[in-house]
Amino acid sequence: MPELNGSDASGADQSALDGAPGQAGGPGMRLVILGKQGAGKGTQAERLAQFAGVPRISTGDMFRTAVRSGSRWGRQAAAFMDAGELVPDDVVVGMVTERLAQDDVQKRGFVLDGFPRSVAQAEALDRIADPELVISLEVPTEMVLNRLAGRRTCEVCGANYGPDNPPGDDSICDVCGGKVVQREDDTEAAISRRLEVYEERTAPLVAWYLASDRLAAVDGTGTPDLVTKRLQRAIETRLR
Ligand code: ADP
Ligand code: ZN
Repeated sequence: MPELNGSDASGADQSALDGAPGQAGGPGMRLVILGKQGAGKGTQAERLAQFAGVPRISTGDMFRTAVRSGSRWGRQAAAFMDAGELVPDDVVVGMVTERLAQDDVQKRGFVLDGFPRSVAQAEALDRIADPELVISLEVPTEMVLNRLAGRRTCEVCGANYGPDNPPGDDSICDVCGGKVVQREDDTEAAISRRLEVYEERTAPLVAWYLASDRLAAVDGTGTPDLVTKRLQRAIETRLR
């Protein structure tokens, strides 16, 4: 079963997340998930977004789609992505600003996955959207290296597969029928560079959000369902 599919977490308690928009003090829920590569951000962000009925916004997925279609954002991002470097802040902020202005986000909120990744991006986000809760999904580096080594990704919808959860039909995505491949930037060199960049540029955001009392740290080890339950508990505690 693909990790991206939120329906396999049906055992989890949804009560914290299926409230009407506005109960969390704003339109829907405005959530950010921070975490290093392979921490399970994408999988968990998708589940929380489904439970809460808000869009998941993944800047990595947006850039990969943009690269494939050859659009403006894609042409500006491709070389940085292949090298495992961050795309320049002004490009990312431009793309996210455009996305956050859309109707679904304005009405219901968002779960942001992969943004912000630098203090400059976090400052820009505060100017456009005011996130109410930032979750740091914590997993030790040895563990993410293992996960990333075996990771394959659907090139259409971004669903992740690993040795323990391969797609039912070889390299065809269970969710959307797209092709399941190793990501171009999931090479050893690009992975270790991305983890370095995470420590330098993104990890400081944990203290930055802690200072404004918006941070909740959640243990990201264990099964995906267990992690989902911890996340739901953290959201319930902080937002209700
Ligand atoms: P990962 O978390 O494994 O690095 P993502 O799918 O989140 O993967 O991102 C892939 C690539 O897209 C990043 O390595 C980076 O080049 C670019 N990218 C995504 N989000 C951002 C961001 N907020 N700022 C700068 N670059 C980004
Ligand atoms: Zn797919």
